[in-house]
Amino acid sequence: MRRPFRLSAIIGAVLIAAGSHAGGQQKPPPPAPPRGGVQAFDVPLPDTPSPRNANYDIAVQLDPVRKEIKGRETIRWRNISNATTSELQFHLYWNAWRNDDSTWLRENRLRAPAPARPRDAVRRPDETGTSDVTSIKVTPFGGTTADLTSSIRYLAPDDGNAADRTVMAVALPAPATPGAAVQIEIEWTGRIPFAADRTGWIDDYFFFGQWFPKIGVLEDTGWNTHQFHYATEFYADFGVYDVQMTVPGGYKVGATGREMRRVDNPDGTTTHTYHADDVADFGWTTSPSFIEERRAFNHAQLPSVEMRLLLRPEHRGQETRQFAAAAAGLEYFGQWFGAYPYGNITIVDPAYRSNSDGMEYPMLFTGRANWLAPAQVSTAPDSTIIHETGHQWFYGVVANNEFEHGWMDEGITTWATARVMEETQRPNELAVRTFGAFIPYTPGVRLSREVDGNRMPSYRPDAESDTPTTPTFRYWPRSANAIAYAKTSLWMHTLERHLGWPTMQKVMSTYFERWKFRHPRPDDFFQVVNEVSGQDLTWFFDQVVRSSNSFDYAVQDLKQEPSAGGKTRVVVVAQRLGDATFPVDVVTTFADGQRATERWDGKDRRVIYTYERAVRATRVEIDPGHVLLLDVNRTNNSRTTPSRAADAGRKWSLAWMVWLQELMITAGFFG
Ligand SMILES: [Zn+2]
Repeated sequence: MRRPFRLSAIIGAVLIAAGSHAGGQQKPPPPAPPRGGVQAFDVPLPDTPSPRNANYDIAVQLDPVRKEIKGRETIRWRNISNATTSELQFHLYWNAWRNDDSTWLRENRLRAPAPARPRDAVRRPDETGTSDVTSIKVTPFGGTTADLTSSIRYLAPDDGNAADRTVMAVALPAPATPGAAVQIEIEWTGRIPFAADRTGWIDDYFFFGQWFPKIGVLEDTGWNTHQFHYATEFYADFGVYDVQMTVPGGYKVGATGREMRRVDNPDGTTTHTYHADDVADFGWTTSPSFIEERRAFNHAQLPSVEMRLLLRPEHRGQETRQFAAAAAGLEYFGQWFGAYPYGNITIVDPAYRSNSDGMEYPMLFTGRANWLAPAQVSTAPDSTIIHETGHQWFYGVVANNEFEHGWMDEGITTWATARVMEETQRPNELAVRTFGAFIPYTPGVRLSREVDGNRMPSYRPDAESDTPTTPTFRYWPRSANAIAYAKTSLWMHTLERHLGWPTMQKVMSTYFERWKFRHPRPDDFFQVVNEVSGQDLTWFFDQVVRSSNSFDYAVQDLKQEPSAGGKTRVVVVAQRLGDATFPVDVVTTFADGQRATERWDGKDRRVIYTYERAVRATRVEIDPGHVLLLDVNRTNNSRTTPSRAADAGRKWSLAWMVWLQELMITAGFFG
């Protein structure tokens, strides 16, 4: 997702089941959707992009009045690990808002200051969300069906919280060995949470994220099924999805995948059937208020993509801008990393205060738009849409475990977004929003990629709050974004400047090609960096990923004294104030324009350079090329002498700008 810069009638649903396991007591089901080649799910099919080991047929019915859904799903799952398991584990994410003792709400209350929205601390009864499995039947491939409903239990693998019901388990009748295949039929009901993080309802707008019972990931070391945490996202295996969504007639639907069929039912509802291959999640939205627009993305070197926008009526007129941002993402990420592998994408313009903005799903994402969107302010919708488009590469196709390594999707995407913003020369000025974020005021302060694109103001105050190698769900909830998003973006940009863009681009395209439709771990990324760059960058990853230390180099002193022969002895003292180390240039400029450049490995606490020159030094600067973007205080990186009033004035005004900007960020003005 893209976190803002803020600190801060249920009618019987029908089941389209595989084989002979369809329920018989329902209304006549609509015809089965076409299948994506998963009839035989007990063996991997040749030539599919992903392993397709977690496949879903889902039928869900929305009751917009009672804010409920009723669903049935058939999961065809294959054990692609080397482990044998005696149970199955599932995520029931909506239970994060079931009671005030859920781990999600507990973690949210740990944030300080208090959450901006009271419902993030406790939830009124009409704001809760639930997911209740009412039936679960399991059929080993070629075996007999067992009803396991009575054996449902809840796990809390991360914190032992007995009140948390976001992970469910059932014991298998017989262990599933490597290669074993199991069919799981689930019936469930869900209470749709009110405007929760990334999911829920507000007014006539419904966004369905993490809405269906979802099987965990079985790894060689066992199940990886984390609870729903405040600061982290998700992890799932790839598969083929066939999903039927029944909504009131006239409601528009957007979803992962491609719409295959639309059937108007006698009761006034409409069933929309979507199909998606090789995705690890499925999100959808519905509202009668959306304006629907379509445009094509065409590019000489890239496959065409059909873009669809579901726009809120109050944002009419922003169509071209929103499409252009998505197209910029498809173009640049496609050229840098590898082509977008799906033929269509849906941009959802979320309802005001739905809290579903800036969130990614395969082939679908939500943007972020403001009612007044000045052309010179690109944070929303432009940058958010580019960021969410970027997640199609990192999260969607290269699907790392977001619970444990959130930096791999969020940090890399934040870095890549800033790069597109710079490459496309989108103007981005500071906007101060007042009156409930409605009215923007732009004081003419231009935001830079180096600082704001990489989110230095978000990183700096929490630079040492967590070590990135800590599983992300254990990060301190208030400052998790500083590490997952901002620190990573800063070190990725530092790496880009250290290696040069051509090498960095090759690193990223190699990483994408090697790990697409798979689950890379941090070491897999580091290995690609080392291999492609031809350097052992372990020292760098030790500093930026395996440590919580921060960087700060400073000019401690610049002394000038007369020396023999009428010369001047210039003594430059450079200092390392932070605990982290990085090689930096120390550049001294003399009054005759000559420069002395020293390459300091940056390891000692201090280094002294002495020059005997005919003229005095006018300036010393550490890292004048701004390679080390992680330096938390750049104002101490240089010293100029003699101090000139104009320079001082400029420096003072720059410092004031930084102060003003950080005040605004602290006050949560960025929206
Ligand atoms: Zn994101």
